[in-house]
Amino acid sequence: MKVERELPSGEAHELLELTVDIADKELAPRAAEFEEEGRFPREVFHVLGETGLLTLPFAEDVGGGGQPYAVYLQVLEELAARWAAVAVGVSVHTLSCHAVASFGSASQRQTLLPWQLSGTALGAYCLSEEHAGSDPSAIRARAAHDDGGAWVARGTKAWVTHGGEADFYTAFLRTSDDPRNGISCFHVDAGSPGLSAGAPERKMGLRSSTTAVMNFDDVRIPEDRLIGEPGQGLRIALSALDAGRLGIAAVAVGIAQAALDHAVEYARERRTFGRRIIEHQGVGFLLADMAARTEAARATYLVAARRKDSGRPFSRQASIAKLIATDTAMAVTTDAVQVLGGAGYVREHPVERYMREAKITQIFEGTNQIQRMVIGRHLAGS
Ligand SMILES: Cc1cc2nc3c(=O)[nH]c(=O)nc-3n(C[C@H](O)[C@H](O)[C@H](O)COP(=O)(O)OP(=O)(O)OC[C@H]3O[C@@H](n4cnc5c(N)ncnc54)[C@H](O)[C@@H]3O)c2cc1C
Repeated sequence: MKVERELPSGEAHELLELTVDIADKELAPRAAEFEEEGRFPREVFHVLGETGLLTLPFAEDVGGGGQPYAVYLQVLEELAARWAAVAVGVSVHTLSCHAVASFGSASQRQTLLPWQLSGTALGAYCLSEEHAGSDPSAIRARAAHDDGGAWVARGTKAWVTHGGEADFYTAFLRTSDDPRNGISCFHVDAGSPGLSAGAPERKMGLRSSTTAVMNFDDVRIPEDRLIGEPGQGLRIALSALDAGRLGIAAVAVGIAQAALDHAVEYARERRTFGRRIIEHQGVGFLLADMAARTEAARATYLVAARRKDSGRPFSRQASIAKLIATDTAMAVTTDAVQVLGGAGYVREHPVERYMREAKITQIFEGTNQIQRMVIGRHLAGS
């Protein structure tokens, strides 16, 4: 079903139409096969890069699309409705560029950012470690100065989306034992000697999105690749995550919308006891709740995005949006499987894939327990 969208301009309407066209032609026909085979669709990211859809929320003067977050997120939602792994990839790339765009020096914004936003480069975001997911302050991978004034990094980052596929890695490494200010942020080029990816994780869903550990074995990082001040890394990481959570909320709404659309289409055709199943109140009410939840979830991410676009604080609203949208995606995709009955449980229909994709949105970029912690802290005034 075509989503009725609130957009600020004719240009934004055209952008959404372009997105739907590209998503229908380039993403939808490939998604099931690539997911089945666990194949990373680099060529699809090239198409998104060429058409400007990979870098929408960044300023035009550095190569971005100059779009408000409220528009960028709706683009992401349309991509996710066709292929969640690709939409997650766009969101992760955005997260990876955030450090230089928001905290880089003038010279880094001139040299690194245009390349990061060129549409040909793909980024990865290395914050988590095996023992440090919800609590990034526990990071152990380290970078220390060598005699020549460069940094040398050693350790292992876990769960890196695009690990081994990316052209650059925004990496958060410990540079001192200071518990609050001991982590720093670095731009690391993919070809750096000593940098290697582990075997891709074998996942429940998002199988075409590569996730791998990244090993830093004495990787030399030039001094001018430190982003921001030494010790500012956790602040940079958390600020990127506030915006990144909105990306995941939009992805979750896209998955929920796709599941709803498929379930409605099926329920209009499938007949039992002499009538279409959508006419049985038990199924019709289920679909009505799915539609209501999906629209409500969309509203929560748009509220947060509009606050961000107008320069107001949006951290609490971003956590609420991530919590509501991803729990909605889980509930709606589960109900979509139910609407299809046995057909929902097999791969001839995409709803079982949507259900597997929805699950991860409740986990990454801060689990939903962590979102509740953030919201609770705001309520407590701390
Ligand atoms: C497919 C995939 C892609 C990912 N991509 C990236 C990426 O690109 N970059 C990156 O840096 N990371 C990435 N991650 C890592 C992801 O962000 C972490 O898995 C997530 O933050 C949770 O951390 P954890 O797995 O260590 O779980 P833990 O932190 O070990 O948590 C385990 C459980 O305990 C709960 N819990 C923990 N602390 C608390 C608390 N204080 N109160 C209540 N409950 C709590 C959690 O909610 C969870 O249910 C990815 C993960 C996956 C699976």
